[in-house]
Amino acid sequence: MHFINKLLKRIHYSQISTKITLTFAVFFIALLALSNVFAWYGVYYALYQQAENTILYSMKNTKKLLEEIEQDVNLDVNSVRDPLVAGVVLRVINSNGEIFIDTDPHYPSVKLFNDCIIKNPPFWANDDMEVAEFKNAIVYRAKMNFTHDGETVELQFFRTITAQMGFFEQLKNILLVIDFIGLILAVGTGYIVSRKILYPIRTMTKTAQNIAIENMSSRIDVNPANDELTDLARTFNNMLDRLQVGIQQQQRFVSDASHELRTPVTVIRGYSDLLTRWGASDPKILKESIDAINSESENMQQLIEQLLFLARSDQNRQPMKMEELELSDIVADIFRKMQQVVHTHEIELLNNDKAVIFADKVTIRQMIRIFLDNAVKYTPKGGSITINSVRNGDHIKLDVIDTGIGIAPENQEKVFDRFYRVNASHSKQEVNGTGLGLSIAKWIAEQHNIKIKLQSKLGAGTTISVNIPIHKNH
Ligand code: ADP
Repeated sequence: MHFINKLLKRIHYSQISTKITLTFAVFFIALLALSNVFAWYGVYYALYQQAENTILYSMKNTKKLLEEIEQDVNLDVNSVRDPLVAGVVLRVINSNGEIFIDTDPHYPSVKLFNDCIIKNPPFWANDDMEVAEFKNAIVYRAKMNFTHDGETVELQFFRTITAQMGFFEQLKNILLVIDFIGLILAVGTGYIVSRKILYPIRTMTKTAQNIAIENMSSRIDVNPANDELTDLARTFNNMLDRLQVGIQQQQRFVSDASHELRTPVTVIRGYSDLLTRWGASDPKILKESIDAINSESENMQQLIEQLLFLARSDQNRQPMKMEELELSDIVADIFRKMQQVVHTHEIELLNNDKAVIFADKVTIRQMIRIFLDNAVKYTPKGGSITINSVRNGDHIKLDVIDTGIGIAPENQEKVFDRFYRVNASHSKQEVNGTGLGLSIAKWIAEQHNIKIKLQSKLGAGTTISVNIPIHKNH
């Protein structure tokens, strides 16, 4: 028992190819064993059946003949057909135990037969007959009584079931050889088949082992067959493609972020150096330095907050509290605050239709603020900025229109990419920015099922429109 448990445990932890080979072999052997049993007993049964039938037929013929003789005493014995089927031996014994008819005196004697009767013949042997087993043969016997003129004689019919016990030995050997060849074939084919089936998995493992963050380019060869393993290989390759893109984005994000952070830090360090050397004694330098440090740290703070927002959104950790909101209230509030702060531009609210939307208050405000901040940033002083919110069926269309520098058609798609700034080095000097605002707005819009449309003409101005779904029943 302990040994079997140990063996099963070993199989459980063995390679799949070993398991397939073993399963194959076990089933094959079971099948062989079953066919052996059928072959063995089939032959046995057929021999018994044949012997039994010939005896029964001979008995029937003999009985008929005896009845005929009884009815017609002058029956011509020469005209009588031999009632015994070939191979059947008949012995007739009188009441004194003397054998007075014996069709084959060389056949084992009645006494020998009686000594060799087997007590438990096979279940398919005829219950009315006896079976005796000799060194080289198995013999059937059936008895029948016949009474004539008050005297009863016993007729004993014998028939050899098999005269060659050696035949069974031979059969056994043949079956054993077949079994042995079968076993080797089963293990061999099991092994070859399983290795062939599992070959793609082994290549996959090798490829996977070779893949590292620095080397994501390896892919599994996909063979043209359309089976499960090809599916697996394709899925694996697709997964690697996605991971590679993700990792590249991540790497670019980190390097862009570091790059962006380097500028304000460098400026701050430059001014603090200046301050250490001369600043304290020169009120002009002091003011300039403090102003610069202030504005750069403000930039840095904004950048860090935007980075944190994107990091949270990438990990799906940005909290979103969806609720019913009156959009016109939000727009009016943002407009009022903008008006209080921005005095360099003319800000106008055209329509502010009422509409209940289902959104997260914080981020939806953030999105509108990004559009408005950009409109202010990229519109020269004195320009005008218009907000227009118009209800249209089950949507509300909010436009932020400026009369600013505009965006060239080839850049209109790219402005939504992270860290993308049109003419970065140039604009950097004029307006503060990180290139993250619109990518954050895009993410917020996606979360709310909102479509953003950008229309712009270089030198003439930009219109950003968002189409916000109105909450059901409102
Ligand atoms: P940031 O404004 O911080 O640079 P954004 O992602 O908000 O980053 O914008 C990306 C770029 O798109 C900006 O650098 C600017 O070049 C361009 N852009 C955005 N809004 C406008 C606008 N209203 N007018 C002109 N250009 C704009």
